[in-house]
Amino acid sequence: MPISYEATIEWAEARDAADPLREFRHEFLIPPHEHGDSHYFCGNSLGLQPRAVRAAVNAELDYWGELGVEGHFKGRLPWMDYHEFVRDHLAEVVGAQPDEIVAMNTLGVNLHLMMVSFYRPTPDRHAILIEAGAFPTDRYAVESQIRYHGFSPNLSLIELEGDEPNGTLSMGAIERALAEHGPRIALVLLPGVQYRTGQVFDLKAITALGHQQGCQVGFDLAHAVGNLPLQLHDSGMDFAIWCSYKYLNSGPGAVGGAFVHARHARTTLPRFAGWWGHDKTTRFQMGPEFVPTPGADGWQLSNPPILALAPLRVSLDVFHRAGMQRLREKSLELTGYLRWLVETQLPDVLEVVTPKDPARHGSQLSIRVLGGRTEGRALFEYLIEHGIIGDWREPDVIRISPVPLYNRFADCLAFAQAVRRWRVQA
Ligand SMILES: *Cc1c(COP(=O)(O)O)cnc(C)c1O
Repeated sequence: MPISYEATIEWAEARDAADPLREFRHEFLIPPHEHGDSHYFCGNSLGLQPRAVRAAVNAELDYWGELGVEGHFKGRLPWMDYHEFVRDHLAEVVGAQPDEIVAMNTLGVNLHLMMVSFYRPTPDRHAILIEAGAFPTDRYAVESQIRYHGFSPNLSLIELEGDEPNGTLSMGAIERALAEHGPRIALVLLPGVQYRTGQVFDLKAITALGHQQGCQVGFDLAHAVGNLPLQLHDSGMDFAIWCSYKYLNSGPGAVGGAFVHARHARTTLPRFAGWWGHDKTTRFQMGPEFVPTPGADGWQLSNPPILALAPLRVSLDVFHRAGMQRLREKSLELTGYLRWLVETQLPDVLEVVTPKDPARHGSQLSIRVLGGRTEGRALFEYLIEHGIIGDWREPDVIRISPVPLYNRFADCLAFAQAVRRWRVQA
């Protein structure tokens, strides 16, 4: 059923009042601006703070103060098992079996740890396939792993150029690249959502294509976790990694995550090991021989940072109550409205780069400023000054991500109205 949008505050507020998820906004601290809340569209970069985080962190500080080392075993949530307290809800958010996932480290560290196991180049099969314009960490990590194994990025790094008008990648292009280079590709590493264009990739289809060619397949889900309903187990990928400070709202530098498919639970592939990955039933015998815990837990190095896990636990509880499916439905409505506003109210100023097909985008719309970089920067500064918080990507793109947990239709309208005001006065 086509929705008849209107660019009026009455329409937007009526939609917000009818939103079944509207109460969740009150569970977050919305950064203030002048006389009210800012219009925060940066949840793709740093998600907002759930109000309950402060008490959860304070509780752990109190246990530390009152219990000292005993906090490992006492308190409401003993630290010894703390990473278990995020497991079930995290598995739910990413569509994995509980033992396929672990909250640990940060994204870049996890990417390297996963590549140690799943990038095993041989003289015949040594290449890694990534998308051109990948996030710097991904490119640096991949390049450095190639060199670490004694290969050269010149020969072993394949960067797939976008073949669609806005620089996005078609499935056809991925298919052709795998058909052409498959036998020399050791690892396919693509994003769930491309950070710059907002394009969503078909995890299951890409995994199947990669596996047909005998490649390992991993995904960087930095912009996908907490944004899209995922089915990591069913998609069949070998591994995935992500961070938790974007859509997962777990705070700056939050503890990241990793997924290792169940078929690798007892793998004999090499890995970089630490005591926390040792089989938990015998960990404290402190023996010299490393015996990994089956599943993703076996890749843990260190005992986890409790103060950093507390916000993740709180945040995942919010996701559990809201439900990824409901969040996705609202997300599609918000981006649908935002896109309509740009296309009908602002076609002289802006153009959406992100694919239109709902299966190919998440919460983020990457919006190009038609006037180019200088105008774009001026518009971006104007928006920030007026409490509209997006982010800037060179040379001419503003990323705007209405997040269904705390953004409103009225926020989308405020963005469009601010752009129009800037246009009129410029
Ligand atoms: C945000 C992001 C990162 C950041 O990595 P950290 O290790 O968390 O600093 C890496 N890759 C992608 C694709 C990202 O979007």
